[in-house]
Amino acid sequence: MKFSLPKGTRDILPSKIGQWKEVCEKASALAARYGFSEIITPEFEDTALFERGVGKGTDIVTKEMYTFSRSPKESYTLKPEGTAPVIRAYIQNGMGSLPQPVKLFYITSCYRAENPQKGRQRQFHQFGAEVIGAASPAADCEVISLADTFLKMMDVGEYELNINSVGCPECRREYYALLLSFLEERKDRLCEDCVSRMDLNPMRVFDCKNETCQAALAGAPLMIDHLCEKCAEHFEGVKEALDASGIRYVVNPKIVRGLDYYTNTAFEFIPVGEGTAQSTLCAGGRYDGLCELLGGESTPGVGFGLGLERLLLSVGEGEAESPCCDLFVAPLGKEALYKALSIKQQLINAGFSVQTDMMSRSLKAQMKYADKIGAAKVLMIGEDEMAKGVGTLRDMKTKEQFPVPLDDIAALAGAIKAEE
Ligand code: ATP
Ligand code: MG
Repeated sequence: MKFSLPKGTRDILPSKIGQWKEVCEKASALAARYGFSEIITPEFEDTALFERGVGKGTDIVTKEMYTFSRSPKESYTLKPEGTAPVIRAYIQNGMGSLPQPVKLFYITSCYRAENPQKGRQRQFHQFGAEVIGAASPAADCEVISLADTFLKMMDVGEYELNINSVGCPECRREYYALLLSFLEERKDRLCEDCVSRMDLNPMRVFDCKNETCQAALAGAPLMIDHLCEKCAEHFEGVKEALDASGIRYVVNPKIVRGLDYYTNTAFEFIPVGEGTAQSTLCAGGRYDGLCELLGGESTPGVGFGLGLERLLLSVGEGEAESPCCDLFVAPLGKEALYKALSIKQQLINAGFSVQTDMMSRSLKAQMKYADKIGAAKVLMIGEDEMAKGVGTLRDMKTKEQFPVPLDDIAALAGAIKAEE
């Protein structure tokens, strides 16, 4: 029987690993420059954390979670997103008593049982960042700025930052009444999902990917026109902070995000000219109610999640990287092989990258192989060399050869270094 990887997952093969690591390292280094500390949370959490923290009416909770249990008393879910676990960790570890705000970033796998397509996987990765404990628009600007700088640094091409405000529970109450009566009149033109959204979180109809629903929403009342004074002021503050930071944005009143816990700011970074549902590179927003909802003290927060696979689709192919090899030791015969293994081990311990034959190849075939893997030098140990205790060191670039004592590791190390 032949096995294939599960639908919606992928291998990161050696030819792609260099690019993958570079993206992760750049994200970490940039987040650190902004003063964010890294956090790693488990791959799975109590199912209830996501039901509460993401919201029972969301696509994630209703359709996309990988949930498992090994006894009737427990139910766990592979993390579909990174914010709820980070807030759980913030509360559980008493991070509320640290100097505020607490700025955390993560690079994590996320798991969602979705229909796999280009840019949409069942296991994918997010670079995410959260500012917890700051209510000011400067905090919204901080996370947006981090995501924006990262996307620019990665050369993703043209994109647009869309921002909106989804208000607070106060201003939403009045607005929902207006929106619901609008939706009620057009109920027959809405998809099943949207009809059920009407009961749970009506604003989320704007997030529907169905074109008929989008058409039915033309002329719908918009949250942004019904913000309470405090929310309107916050939204103005965010725009001013972005202006002051030189970050370009457009206000898009239909950005509502798929998660239930957002308050005030919601934003998305969308590539220009693609228009597909799979193209949003990064999305986030403010979630002032989340901490309390998860059993902590009322604490404001704002953050984003940026899909690394989608980012790489926009960046294109990176260059394949092969591991370096300072020295390939090419022995002939069993005795020489043991000598080679001893030399290899000592040079590895001394910090060099060294390989030797594992295929019982002829000297000629070993030279060919050493050339293919890009070894800088080859130490040949044939019968003669073993007898004399002196190997032949070949520089693969200049093709020069010279004798080196086999029992003097310091001299060997010097010879490898000297020619570099
Ligand atoms: P979409 O509307 O595309 O389903 P979403 O609202 O579910 O996105 P978020 O939960 O906000 O997305 O996740 C943030 C980012 O994570 C997205 O902008 C995207 O880059 C990435 N992402 C989300 N789901 C997937 C997936 N299934 N495969 C790959 N990347 C994803
Ligand atoms: Mg989704």
